[in-house]
Amino acid sequence: MQTIEVGLLKDLILTIAGKGTEAIVDVLEKEKSVNEFKIAEKLKLTINQTRNILYKLSNQNIVSFTRKKDEKKGWYIYFWTLNIQKALERLLHFKKKELYDIEHQIKSKENKHFYICPSDNLEFTDETAINHDFICPECGQLLQLATFDKKIQELSGRIEKVKKELAVVEEELVRIRAEKLKQLEKELLKKKQQKARQRKKARAQKAKTMPKLKKKKIKQRKKVRQRKKAKKAKKAKKVKIKKGKRKKK
Ligand SMILES: [Zn+2]
Repeated sequence: MQTIEVGLLKDLILTIAGKGTEAIVDVLEKEKSVNEFKIAEKLKLTINQTRNILYKLSNQNIVSFTRKKDEKKGWYIYFWTLNIQKALERLLHFKKKELYDIEHQIKSKENKHFYICPSDNLEFTDETAINHDFICPECGQLLQLATFDKKIQELSGRIEKVKKELAVVEEELVRIRAEKLKQLEKELLKKKQQKARQRKKARAQKAKTMPKLKKKKIKQRKKVRQRKKAKKAKKAKKVKIKKGKRKKK
């Protein structure tokens, strides 16, 4: 995974499972599946704390587990896997929401103003400024009208950042999905080839036993045909005789 992706996934896990849990990405990212005791050790947490984090993440399909029975102790050991695709999809969802929220904030700040004290930078709403006769209650300076332009600029900067992050996540998802499709095609081709091989084998087997069977079948068919022919001939003869009798009358 790219560093930027690891960082984004850490943000995601922080949002879902809370502060101090994001290091789990570093542990899970390196291996296909990791023993939960090893995860606890790496995170320097108790096994129960570790499981709590993992359950929270598995509720969102970001991680999944397989279990193996420990033959000596007789209990199950859980191995956890990071579902990178699902995690990125969740991330995409969060980032889209973030984008929407920022855009909403900008809209609500446009065409609005507030008051500010030029000496100590205190901010006041319309109402409080009027209540204080536009005089700063802290220092007595006259308040000045201010707009949210600076804040809007800052928010616009954040929009650019989130859009870039979205592009990274989307690109990676496209790559992962294409890879999955390729894998699927490969498996399908393999199955097809296997079936073709099986058919070939079956045909070869048939060809081996065929000569005897075929001869027998051909003989049987010939007999049936002969019998049918004989029957037909007999019928024709009967009809002829009948016709002959009629003529006599
Ligand atoms: Zn002031």
